[in-house]
Amino acid sequence: MDIKAIEATLKTRLVEKTEHLDKIKTSLRSPHSASFSEQAVERGSDDVKEQLEESIGAEIQLIKAALMRIEKGTYQECMSCGGEIRQKRLEALPYTSLCISCANGQGEQFA
Ligand SMILES: [Zn+2]
Repeated sequence: MDIKAIEATLKTRLVEKTEHLDKIKTSLRSPHSASFSEQAVERGSDDVKEQLEESIGAEIQLIKAALMRIEKGTYQECMSCGGEIRQKRLEALPYTSLCISCANGQGEQFA
């Protein structure tokens, strides 16, 4: 797999995540039913949806940031030490912006 293939994967994932987020947002806006007990249940699931919305939103930001780095030609550059991020690592963790040694030192998200 080369960087172009990773870029294509990221773009596909960005579309999927954006669509998923739109669906969650639409269902969050749907009106609540009148009965009090049903409302309580629905409110509970709204909390779950809001958490999901937040985590998908965070993932979308990571994908966008990765695509931006590909565009700028800094995708394989570690944001922390400026060293090279191995391609194998990027294939496994396409959102990463840190080389393996910096990630190990920092407890990277999505590692
Ligand atoms: Zn590094």
